[in-house]
Amino acid sequence: MRKTVLTKLTLKEKHILQSILIKFELKKSRSPRKRLISFKTFFCMLTNEENAFANIFLTIDPKRFGFKGEWYGLNESHKNMIRVKKFADTRDGCHYLPSDVVAAFDKMNKAMMREVGKVLYLDSGFRSGAYQLIIFFQQLSANKFNLKKTCRRVALPGWSEHGAPERQACDFITLDILRGKKDNFSCTPEYKWLLEHANAFGFYLSYPKNNKFGVVFEPWHWHWEKP
Ligand SMILES: [Zn+2]
Repeated sequence: MRKTVLTKLTLKEKHILQSILIKFELKKSRSPRKRLISFKTFFCMLTNEENAFANIFLTIDPKRFGFKGEWYGLNESHKNMIRVKKFADTRDGCHYLPSDVVAAFDKMNKAMMREVGKVLYLDSGFRSGAYQLIIFFQQLSANKFNLKKTCRRVALPGWSEHGAPERQACDFITLDILRGKKDNFSCTPEYKWLLEHANAFGFYLSYPKNNKFGVVFEPWHWHWEKP
């Protein structure tokens, strides 16, 4: 694979990135299926110049920016994904997961309800490579185009567990956070319960404090492994 050398965005590139985000906002952001958007649909929305710019991010080596995670490949096949109907925050479109992960999530929620009277909601499940790129662009813009800072907070397409069904990531959220009563997932009783019990259901915390992957602490981000 060609590794692109990109260290800093030029003013022109920053404008191109913003115009891509505006296009997505206008055309696709309200689609309930936006998290499954294919590269074909995404690139069809773009001009040649935007296309060339977006393509650079499919060949960047994020290790140059301190991210030391795995390469999972640009998996955009979502034939085996099912829409999560129970316990998913769908205010911003639907969430999708492989069926065995939905079953494990359901089973874990039932146990949590039985033991502490709480349940988790899904805040993000499977994301296509193109959707991952959009999220990366949104974060890059929010982080004032700082590539190093962004790479520690969101993976580039192909490097995210959200796009790797064999190691499917789930971002969890609690009812209190959804209702604005709390904001720190790591201080919730649900998180404490997960630390003790999640492994028994096949869920593992991917990015604990000071993890070897160079990713910031993400208490909400758990991946599932087939037992
Ligand atoms: Zn995540």
